[in-house]
Amino acid sequence: MYTGLGLKDEIIKDKDIIWQCVSCNKCTNIYPKDVRPEGVMKALAHWLEDEGHTEIRPSHIFDEEFWGQVERTGRIEDAHVIMGFFKKTNQPLIQEWLTAFTMRMIKHLPFVHLIRMGMNFMFTLRTKSWGHTGKVLREYVEQREEEAHRRRQQVKEAA
Ligand code: SF4
Repeated sequence: MYTGLGLKDEIIKDKDIIWQCVSCNKCTNIYPKDVRPEGVMKALAHWLEDEGHTEIRPSHIFDEEFWGQVERTGRIEDAHVIMGFFKKTNQPLIQEWLTAFTMRMIKHLPFVHLIRMGMNFMFTLRTKSWGHTGKVLREYVEQREEEAHRRRQQVKEAA
């Protein structure tokens, strides 16, 4: 890992570039077999957060909100994800772009679809028999987080 090769200062200097990766995976598709630059970018971004070299990014908060809803309900209700994200990032719930977006939906979507969306918003639905699946997913994510934490600790000790 770059942090273990004495390149920490270089990485910290260029940390804003690391956060510009949008996970499009173009690099991973053209690099030789088993080389995954996108994974390296993500690992470095987490390392920067863990080490306090950068604040927790909104994208990280959004991911947590998104994942939290999947884990709890087995579904994604966009409005709940956005509202949760706004709350956690101290943003107003009513925003100009969102109002314009909502008005366009009301104008263009079929009435039945709008009713269904409203019902989904009002009554948080849950995928049938989701309990066990959610538990298995949670365990898997916790395992991966522990592994990632262990790897970062090894990198830290090697640096
Ligand atoms: S580093 Fe790779 S995955 Fe990230 S934006 Fe660039 S090409 Fe896409």
